[in-house]
Amino acid sequence: MTRLDELIAFARSVKGFMPDDEGEALTRHALAAGTERPQGTWLEVGAWCGKSATYLGAAAEATRSVLYSLDHHHGSEENQAGWEHFDPSLVDPTDGRLNTLPTWQRTIADAKLEHCVVGLVGPSVTVAEHFAQPLDLLFIDGGHGHEVAWADYEHWTPKVTSGGYLLIHDVFPDPADGGRPPYEIFLAALDSGLFTETAAVGSLRVLRRA
Ligand code: SAH
Ligand code: MG
Repeated sequence: MTRLDELIAFARSVKGFMPDDEGEALTRHALAAGTERPQGTWLEVGAWCGKSATYLGAAAEATRSVLYSLDHHHGSEENQAGWEHFDPSLVDPTDGRLNTLPTWQRTIADAKLEHCVVGLVGPSVTVAEHFAQPLDLLFIDGGHGHEVAWADYEHWTPKVTSGGYLLIHDVFPDPADGGRPPYEIFLAALDSGLFTETAAVGSLRVLRRA
């Protein structure tokens, strides 16, 4: 088994919200991005336990790129107690809040990706306002509420370079399948005239900046 295949197999076993085929699509498109432009700077919004970071990190390692994996690590609304995606094993008993950072760290260490997957711990907008590096690849998979998703779109997409990749997760054209905001920001990216869609796998959309 190649290192890339090993990492994909490992990513499948990591706790998180990424179907196998969409995760493999992440690796594949990130590999394309990194092959065209090696040593790129990549960032994902929404790290959770490191599942998508492993899929993207596999491609980062192969192309000598660096992936910043950003999260405040306290979960989104739908991850909190009483909601659909609550996981009591991720609650820190000290303060009763979700804390996915230790699990994220364990994942990246076990994957041996610490040299190219770097955690950024904090609120997305705060980090964005102090992050000047242009992005060759941006993956948006953070909070799915209206305000949070639009804030991610407005703060992070302008940093994508010409020819760079924008990937958006949980894009559901049919409201019966899931919430609106990721779909709305996907449409906004297309309407901006700056991005064109190049691929779709499940709820993952791949766009490129002109
Ligand atoms: N990509 C992950 C899933 C991410 S779930 C995977 O592959 O499994 C969405 C994540 O976004 C949660 O971990 C939540 O803590 C984070 N999040 C939500 N709003 C945020 C914000 N405003 N700033 C930083 N992280 C946020
Ligand atoms: Mg998602």
